[in-house]
Amino acid sequence: MAFRKSEKVVLIGNSHAAVAVIETLRREGFQGHLTLVSEEKLPVFSPTALPYLFASKEKGSRCLRPVEFYHGLSVIQERAVSIDPDRSQVIVESGARLHYDRLVLATGASAAPVVLDTASGDQAFTLRRAPDLERIEKRAKRSRKILILGGGLIGLHLAEVFSEEGKEVLVLELKDQILPGLVHRELSGVLIDHYERKGIRIRLGSSIKGIHDHEAVLSSGESVGADLVLAAVGIRPNVEIVRDTKVAVREGILVNERMETNVNGIYGCGDVAEYRDFFTGRSRLNPNVISAAEQGKRAAESIMGKGEPHPGVISINTFRCMGWNLFSLGRFEPDGGDVMLEELNEETGSFKRLVFRDGTMKGMLLLNCPADGGVFYNLIRRQVPLKGMEERIFGDPLRWGKRLSCQERS
Ligand SMILES: Cc1cc2nc3c(=O)[nH]c(=O)nc-3n(C[C@H](O)[C@H](O)[C@H](O)COP(=O)(O)OP(=O)(O)OC[C@H]3O[C@@H](n4cnc5c(N)ncnc54)[C@H](O)[C@@H]3O)c2cc1C
Repeated sequence: MAFRKSEKVVLIGNSHAAVAVIETLRREGFQGHLTLVSEEKLPVFSPTALPYLFASKEKGSRCLRPVEFYHGLSVIQERAVSIDPDRSQVIVESGARLHYDRLVLATGASAAPVVLDTASGDQAFTLRRAPDLERIEKRAKRSRKILILGGGLIGLHLAEVFSEEGKEVLVLELKDQILPGLVHRELSGVLIDHYERKGIRIRLGSSIKGIHDHEAVLSSGESVGADLVLAAVGIRPNVEIVRDTKVAVREGILVNERMETNVNGIYGCGDVAEYRDFFTGRSRLNPNVISAAEQGKRAAESIMGKGEPHPGVISINTFRCMGWNLFSLGRFEPDGGDVMLEELNEETGSFKRLVFRDGTMKGMLLLNCPADGGVFYNLIRRQVPLKGMEERIFGDPLRWGKRLSCQERS
């Protein structure tokens, strides 16, 4: 659908994906009318910033974008409750109806809830938006023992924050490793030792049955003290807004290589969107900031009738674990026929694994090894031929990353 200058674009959501939509539209010379519907009051915080904001007195300086960023847009600080694709309208909480020619859904995700007491409906605390932070901060002040459900990126980040505040922290992870999907089992073991040396206890294959009077009963039947229970056990894409409409949803809103849904003029991007995996072609969520920003950019380019089709989502994560730096990219578990190079240096606490297939890069895992992750992400996405260079890249990923990115640009 060709873009007309007088068009009205309505954008729902106000985080990484939405910001990328706005920035890209501006860069591409958008001259239509843009309305942002944000349930959060301006300025907003990125969910990724929240763990850093506990006890921070300078919260304001860490917002995602300053309020001036929104100048020139119509901003509606309300929750959008539903859409009516037949009339091309968004309905907001006050009952007002907003007409659109194009609609971008960037509603992100919420933390998956964990009910601790089925009788009272009491839930574990979760962290996704600024008000969650205030609730947790208030409770944490009165808490000495913190129980964290989920040994993923968010759970471990919270464990680190509270441990550094002198709390006693226990992490329960249902699977047989921490950071599932981000590292393999062996590296999980190395990281667990590291956390435990720093005073954070981690139990694998474990969950909580219930809690009563600051005593949590674990799946093993054992009781442990818990003044505060925090859950970080996954996400739920915020798809309610399109429920019972003709917009197709699986786990997330299904989008194509131009971030279009199955309904003409409606786009989805970020944690709420589900798109095909770069390697398998199967549709999946890819909840991380790089993907949200990239999809937001693609959605805006599609609106402007520009840009390349999205090649498929690739997992990418950088994570700091108690002073150690972890980088995880693409498919780091080798399949038959893949070339895998790997080295663990126990003296320096460093690990690297690079996986190649048919002379192109497929994935990498780095612990305490310097490298520019963005360069390797692009080498995968563009399927840059690297045949014969595997050993040299493995020998010095930082130097070769720089070299290859210069070659790419020239
Ligand atoms: C504690 C924490 C730490 C994280 N750390 C990392 C990390 O280190 N690296 C990384 O890559 N990712 C990390 N993530 C994930 C990352 O934050 C998300 O992938 C990213 O925020 C997704 O951006 P988004 O714009 O798609 O959605 P979201 O950030 O979820 O934003 C959605 C926006 O839409 C708004 N909204 C939703 N529904 C409505 C509605 N009906 N009406 C109006 N507005 C609505 C919300 O209020 C929000 O502003 C972390 C997440 C958390 C919670």
